[in-house]
Amino acid sequence: MTQTEYSDANSYFRERFGSKVYKASISLKVTCPNRDGSKGSGGCLFCSEGGSGEFSASSLLPVKEQIDEAILRVSRKIKGEARYIAYFQSFTNTYCDPDYLDASISEAMNDDRICAVSIATRPDCISKPILDVLVRQNKVKPIMVELGLQTIFDETAKWFNRCYETCVFDEAVSLLKSSGIEVIAHIIFGLKDETTEMMLRTVKHVADLHVDGVKFTCLYVLKGTGLEKEWKEGKIDILTRDGYFDIVEEALKILPPDVIVHRLTGDGPKSLLIEPSWTKDKRSVVNYINGRFKVRRRS
Ligand code: SF4
Repeated sequence: MTQTEYSDANSYFRERFGSKVYKASISLKVTCPNRDGSKGSGGCLFCSEGGSGEFSASSLLPVKEQIDEAILRVSRKIKGEARYIAYFQSFTNTYCDPDYLDASISEAMNDDRICAVSIATRPDCISKPILDVLVRQNKVKPIMVELGLQTIFDETAKWFNRCYETCVFDEAVSLLKSSGIEVIAHIIFGLKDETTEMMLRTVKHVADLHVDGVKFTCLYVLKGTGLEKEWKEGKIDILTRDGYFDIVEEALKILPPDVIVHRLTGDGPKSLLIEPSWTKDKRSVVNYINGRFKVRRRS
């Protein structure tokens, strides 16, 4: 079988930062506008109580201590030199006072082990004062902003309670990119009633916007989410492993080589994961990926 090539994040980071790079997940004291009632309530249908940040430390700890904890966890498993990206992962990390965000980023930037900061957020939470913070901090060390798009189809987004329209994402990408900030788009394959053609149109859309990177994942059913209820009622079809990676393969053919693929598939928290069950055996997923896909050599 011919392997499909992709531009992977490991090679990109190694080239950019001169060594292997790992993520140190951080939780800030933030929530999300479609959880607290300002845009919506209940959050996205698939989002867990932890706001997609099950791998981070407690937001009650100072950022510096969270970095220490995260690095200790990772360094037990690795050999040799490594640097770290402080990943502000849980909830909506720009949904806060700009001064708080500024101070939190500074705390991470001041740590010599940290080579960059990645901030997960929503495109409707990039106000002018927040953008000013990001632009200023981006001059200290690189900032990457990760935007949860999932789909360009507003009807699908309504179903999962995204609470913003796709044009808001388009504007945020243009604003961030014109300010010199790297943008990574999160995309989910397998959302309700979406055909393969629709999913690939989402990929084409972000490619046309010249995002710098993408993260793909399949739709996960986690315990305690609204999606669990729909799944129990038989309203959700879960992608099989081959079905999911068939879509990934087509998506990779659409992406220009300079778009970095930060994730070919997600990693749901074990304690909460119900479906897809094939993702539970990580080793076999990695072997499958290595058999079917190939890292593109950087020129
Ligand atoms: S926007 Fe993000 S944090 Fe907020 S509910 Fe949706 S997935 Fe969860």
